Amino acid sequence: MKSSELYARAVKLMPGGVSSPVRAIKPHPFYTLAGRGGRIVTADGQDLIDCCMAYGPLLLGHAHPAILAAIRSQLEKGWLYGTPTPLEPEMAGLIRGDYPSMELMRFVSSGSEATMSAIRVARGFTGRSDIVKVEGGFHGAHDAVLVKAGSGATTLGVPDSAGVLPDLTRHTLQVPYNDPSSLEDTLARNGDVAAFILEPVLGNIGPVLPERKYLDEVRSITKAHDVLLIFDEVITGYRLGRGGAQGLYGIRPDLTTLGKIVGGGLPIGVFGGRREIMDYVAPCGPVYQAGTFSGNPLSLAAGIATIRYLQENSDIYNRLDDMAQTIGEAVHDSGGKGSFVQLGSMFKYFFREKPPRNYREAKESDTGAFAGLWKEMLSRGIFLPPSQFETNFLSAAHTDEDIEAIATGYQECLS
Ligand SMILES: *Cc1c(COP(=O)(O)O)cnc(C)c1O
Repeated sequence: MKSSELYARAVKLMPGGVSSPVRAIKPHPFYTLAGRGGRIVTADGQDLIDCCMAYGPLLLGHAHPAILAAIRSQLEKGWLYGTPTPLEPEMAGLIRGDYPSMELMRFVSSGSEATMSAIRVARGFTGRSDIVKVEGGFHGAHDAVLVKAGSGATTLGVPDSAGVLPDLTRHTLQVPYNDPSSLEDTLARNGDVAAFILEPVLGNIGPVLPERKYLDEVRSITKAHDVLLIFDEVITGYRLGRGGAQGLYGIRPDLTTLGKIVGGGLPIGVFGGRREIMDYVAPCGPVYQAGTFSGNPLSLAAGIATIRYLQENSDIYNRLDDMAQTIGEAVHDSGGKGSFVQLGSMFKYFFREKPPRNYREAKESDTGAFAGLWKEMLSRGIFLPPSQFETNFLSAAHTDEDIEAIATGYQECLS
């Protein structure tokens, strides 16, 4: 069946025909039959170079042999027990090695669940009610954080969601990214803040990069006000290096959330941090948190295989950075009027003259021009995430020919 026919069926059965709003491409999305390496094959017989990589998790590419073998071997032994497994201490030890700030951690099933739980622990530990987040920061689709969130929420222009109680979101305060003084003001005026949660590098409107010293200032301001600092590294964890943004910038947050890459492409979330805070989590402490699928053996097997592969192939991050820079050079040569923002294997071409520093500036981008670029690139066999505000992700499986094709595509489309 072709994509148009599949969509006609799906739209009668599912809201918008999709399982997550960002996938709702007009007039209809393409349907994927298979993925291998840096490419996907569609129901319409197209073989596309994938710059979306499932919105980040697939750092090693589609169907990576090492991960496939790990999943297969676990499958033979069953895939869910409802008891602890040896995979849990193994995985926790690997993560702790890369994220020393995560002294204790818990495995959950999604990034949303990880941030929801981290916020609950922060409130339980401090006994305070409010949280501060960054405008345009995305932390999943739960009530407390659906306020000026990025990702699909930004594309659809629904910074707030119907069905979220104002009584709840009045406990969620906003500050602009890259603006330490408004964080300082907010914390000085409000003594009831449990935590400041942020993506250290904004990944859901961009990427938008931290200015020099911003993250250091964030660390010292939160410390001075005795407010917990939560780094949401669901995208940046294992993406900007094995140690994520905290390793790259040398910051020690109080709590961290991971997801996406750390599950090797299977559903996962992790939250963890300082021992005295995580000791509040049940059964040690009074903050309740539980899940049937938590510590899922398949996700942990895939995650362990991913981390071990990265340990053995430490050159991957340099190669990813080189590939993204090659694309950046082609964009510069094209003479386009927008701005190219890149950090490691995350990159984006913004239809805005200067790289945005925050949500408000990112929103000034010309989304109509982006839609044109997106279509042109697709017709050249290159699948970009379908929004000006979703980051492009490269994988270690992209070949030099793939990168060459992406670079040429940008150059031709932008000149
Ligand atoms: C994707 C994402 C989440 C949500 O993770 P899910 O697994 O989709 O629930 C949370 N925070 C950030 C920074 C993300 O990019």
